[in-house]
Amino acid sequence: MSAVRNVVAGAVPGEIPGAVPGRSVFNFAAGPAIMPREVLEQARDELLDWNGTGQSVWEMPFTGPDYRSIAEAAEADLRALLDIPSDYHVLFLQGGASAQFSLVPLNLAGPDDLVDYVETGHWAHRAIGEARRYCRVNVVASNAADGFRALPPRGSWQLSKHAAYCHITSNETANGLEFHSVPDVGEVPLVADMTSNLLSHPIDIARYGLVYAGAQKNIGPAGLTILIVRDDLIGRARPETPTVFNYQVQVESHGRVNTPLTYAIYLAGLVFRWLRECGGLSAIGAVNARKSAKLYDAIDQSAFYECLVARSDRSRMNVCFELADPDLQTDFLEQAAGQGLMNLKGHSAIGGLRASLYNAMPEAGVDALIAFMEDFERRRG
Ligand SMILES: *Cc1c(COP(=O)(O)O)cnc(C)c1O
Repeated sequence: MSAVRNVVAGAVPGEIPGAVPGRSVFNFAAGPAIMPREVLEQARDELLDWNGTGQSVWEMPFTGPDYRSIAEAAEADLRALLDIPSDYHVLFLQGGASAQFSLVPLNLAGPDDLVDYVETGHWAHRAIGEARRYCRVNVVASNAADGFRALPPRGSWQLSKHAAYCHITSNETANGLEFHSVPDVGEVPLVADMTSNLLSHPIDIARYGLVYAGAQKNIGPAGLTILIVRDDLIGRARPETPTVFNYQVQVESHGRVNTPLTYAIYLAGLVFRWLRECGGLSAIGAVNARKSAKLYDAIDQSAFYECLVARSDRSRMNVCFELADPDLQTDFLEQAAGQGLMNLKGHSAIGGLRASLYNAMPEAGVDALIAFMEDFERRRG
């Protein structure tokens, strides 16, 4: 299967060693981020004429049979990839993950309800700030004081007795932290912002009440938001919740309250299909584990680079590191870009360097980055 080959090997003779065929750069951006080449090629080939219809997906009425078949296939492939139980609904919404920072409280909690949040980094902090506008927020644990370099251990969380839900950020994209197991929060529905690691490895959806993800990190175009919600959490929205963002109304109208993000859903569907052809989430998860382990090893073995994130909590998706001598950073970024290693700058709120290694980043991209880092250290160390 060509998809597997591309992820695992990626190298083609006659091009930049290790580069993705047909591409001259490796894009390590945190999001919007690298897409699988096969997906972009298929989208290009089908752009003017989808499946002999003479129409672009872009142009199709969203109520017609062609687009409906595309949306239904996307949902079926997502359900297959994640093995989503039948009492969970899948919604393809607009507004990005940030809109869900408001919409989760509006849909799941009343104004006097208590909701639990774990503050693990930049994105959890943003989610908390937004939730505070709608209900009573209990920050059950925070590692802000230590600069978000480790996850607060589950044993330290001060959970409320009757929270409407408990919210976690499964992967902190800006800080490079990731939950490697699902925290037990008892009967309280667990809500997870999985924007930057959904579909990067197998998960047990049944452990969650609701999962949401902006697509632009590991799945598809910005704006599209994937939401997976358990049936018993539907129907709790406050009356003032905007209709297009009311989960129950969306479920009942099969995601057609208004015009869905048709083209983005089509592209996400191609990514789901690609992932299935790669062997599914166990296969891609193994590749992701190997890619990140290689890079962390290279960083840890050198005194020239350092990663300050606790080893047990390091993200497989976003490797945050820095140069021991920060004055070399501008040169590092310039020279890396000169070799086609793009967008390695850390999040603006955090600084340092960051290599995002989403599903579509071939292992050869990580190898090329490590080779560049070793060479840069030899010359400048
Ligand atoms: C990028 C990101 C967001 C914000 O996503 P938008 O689609 O821009 O709103 C939220 N949470 C996490 C974990 C992210 O990585």
